[in-house]
Amino acid sequence: METYLEQLNDAQRAPVLQKDGAMIVIAGAGSGKTRVLTFRIAYLMSQGVDPFNILSLTFTNKAAREMKNRISKIVGSSEAKNLWMGTFHSIFAKILRFEADKLGYPSNFTIYDTQDSQSVIRAVIKEMHLDKDVYKYKQVYSRISSYKNSLITVKAYFSNSDLMEADAMAKMPRLGDIYKSYVDKCFKAGAMDFDDLLLKTNELLTRFPEVLAKYQNRFRYILVDEYQDTNHSQYLIVRALSDKFQNICVVGDDAQSIYAFRGANINNILNFQKDYDEVKVFRLEQNYRSTKNIVNAANNIIEKNKTRLEKVVWTANDEGAKILVNRTMTDGDEGRFVASSIFENKMNHQMKDGDFAILYRTNAQSRAMEDALRKKDIPYRIYGGLSFYQRKEIKDVLSYLRLVLNPKDEEALKRVINYPARGIGGTTIDKLIVAANHYNRSIFEVMKNIDKIDLKINSGTKTKLQDFVTMIESFQVLNQNYDAFTITEHVSKKTGLLQELKKDGTPEGIARIENIEELLNGMRDFVEEQKEIADATGSLSEFMEDVALATDADSDKGDSDRVALMTVHLAKGLEFPYVYIVGMEEDLFPSGMSMNTRSELEEERRLFYVAVTRAEKQAYLTYTQSRYRWGKLIDAEPSRFIEEIDESFLEYLTPITENRYKPLLDADIFDDVDHSKLRLKKPVSSKAPMGPTEDQLRKLRRLKPVTSDTDKNFNAEDANLNVGTIVEHVRFGKGKIKSIEGLGADTKAEIDFENGGLKKLLLRFAKLKVV
Ligand code: ATP
Ligand code: MG
Repeated sequence: METYLEQLNDAQRAPVLQKDGAMIVIAGAGSGKTRVLTFRIAYLMSQGVDPFNILSLTFTNKAAREMKNRISKIVGSSEAKNLWMGTFHSIFAKILRFEADKLGYPSNFTIYDTQDSQSVIRAVIKEMHLDKDVYKYKQVYSRISSYKNSLITVKAYFSNSDLMEADAMAKMPRLGDIYKSYVDKCFKAGAMDFDDLLLKTNELLTRFPEVLAKYQNRFRYILVDEYQDTNHSQYLIVRALSDKFQNICVVGDDAQSIYAFRGANINNILNFQKDYDEVKVFRLEQNYRSTKNIVNAANNIIEKNKTRLEKVVWTANDEGAKILVNRTMTDGDEGRFVASSIFENKMNHQMKDGDFAILYRTNAQSRAMEDALRKKDIPYRIYGGLSFYQRKEIKDVLSYLRLVLNPKDEEALKRVINYPARGIGGTTIDKLIVAANHYNRSIFEVMKNIDKIDLKINSGTKTKLQDFVTMIESFQVLNQNYDAFTITEHVSKKTGLLQELKKDGTPEGIARIENIEELLNGMRDFVEEQKEIADATGSLSEFMEDVALATDADSDKGDSDRVALMTVHLAKGLEFPYVYIVGMEEDLFPSGMSMNTRSELEEERRLFYVAVTRAEKQAYLTYTQSRYRWGKLIDAEPSRFIEEIDESFLEYLTPITENRYKPLLDADIFDDVDHSKLRLKKPVSSKAPMGPTEDQLRKLRRLKPVTSDTDKNFNAEDANLNVGTIVEHVRFGKGKIKSIEGLGADTKAEIDFENGGLKKLLLRFAKLKVV
């Protein structure tokens, strides 16, 4: 047996050695699914399969790079570079470029990112004179996106009365028209959005049987990681490509399906066995990632879901520490707790910064964490949010580059036609847009022919427009002979972008120049790397493709020894010795927007399962009692997910006897608690508060339902709280109730406070006094 195969257990080795046929590996977190895929590819190569014939689809491009490196090491050659490996979007964008003409697109089509797409939609809504408060562009974008991912084209939309009715019910009867106009505009600009990359691939494979046959023959072996999160469009592509040889291996975990909100369909995993003639099912049970305590707690969490496949996950690893639960007063305190704790763990356990991750439900939560980490000089890196390539100065440079490749790209053109300022004003641009629509040509073409049409533009401005065209065309000539780095260096100088920032002279301006330098450095590396790959040359178009599809998790630039901050969604597939799951509060995690149905709540629970299973040694759950959200301070309640975990897996760092729970302790119900025992248990840090003993906790917990019942019976009227009532709050002083909403325990009031302005408070916690 090849020695590398010894690094697998028997259950893992089986799907690796099963060279041909359709197979699915269903297994819980940390059981080696991704490892199986990696080793399987190495094995296929060792059996003489050409890497050009292997297609492997991963969740991020970074995961693909890591896999390739791993495989190179195992097979001991650089052949792994030739594997087709990456995200669905990046692989199929490549294929679409080869085949673009069949679909009527230029092969250098632009890939619109979310910002670009939303900007087009905003323009459409404006052009159609629709109310932008009814037609919210982000909402319209996500509806269109979900249609595309379900392969509902504009034509299909207009022949489906149910869909049209649903949109009309949602007060957006013109959605179909927006959809149509959006699609037309993208097509005219020679642009595909993210969803088109899948939609158009499907179109390509269904409309052109010879193209399908070509790629079926090319991709003799197909592998898919995180199969539970494929959407319908992705599913159909995989299905079509693997139909001929049926050498397909997918791995996944139904318990980690967390993208239903974006159209992922868990049934893809459940129905896999029906899709192929003969399917082998493999299961892995041993977790190699986490301690016993974490594995068991995770099992305990997911058990609460009704919709799931029975699975066994166990580990031979150490028992490990309990999951630590910490409460703070504010989100600022929460950040400080996490930063101190990281600091101490680093000292006490000789850990590196890169051994820690802070996971949250929403990107907005990163701010408090960042502030605290900065104060303690702990280096960190935020994944997601605004990526490097979306920074203003970078996007400006990229927009010029996009125009070089595709001058029809309207979003790029609008962005830089007058930046740096060259005297082309808004009115001129509007005239160009009108003319472009009228002649059904791109703005750039109108500019090229500006002498031939009468747009009432004065000759000075005309010259400026012509100069712009000439400049872009000169870049295009250069692009025929030089690599991405050389062109970009030239472009950033010749357009005046760099001078503009130098002129600025502020620290922000200097930081922007540094970012552009960073972009150039990245390009130089890219060009070097590409030259090692067969068929690649380091051209601008290759680079732009990479950039357009860089997902949030990809932007790791070597300096990985930093605390990682990211949403739980992005953390899928990753692992860290120490994991802090912050903001464990009702309405936040589970998200307030995902608690309407059981299936939504179950998806949130799966998300929580994903979060906990990222931890190798130690997991923390933290929550706060008040938090700024949407610019307001709101009262927060601990997440039900903490409650749901059997207490034997948890250890509370803070006594649950203060503040929020105070009313619990005041009354007679607490007579059976020995207060003298509510003492510190084990010092966690010199400053951090300590927790009660197991025994006390049990008592506290037993008592809790009593109060939550009284809470549930909260009644605003009984408490004499009505609109107009003047009340007093401990922190915010006197205020007047503006409105009341919700019932019973959920009653909230909007109150205008003398000291705090307008606040929305949950009344059962607000402890208001009627003045
Ligand atoms: P997830 O569901 O989170 O994606 P996974 O099932 O893909 O997890 P891997 O990431 O492949 O699991 O493996 C988890 C960890 O366990 C990795 O660090 C991996 O290297 C290690 N591991 C897996 N199998 C073995 C093994 N047989 N021997 C040693 N380490 C292993
Ligand atoms: Mg994995």
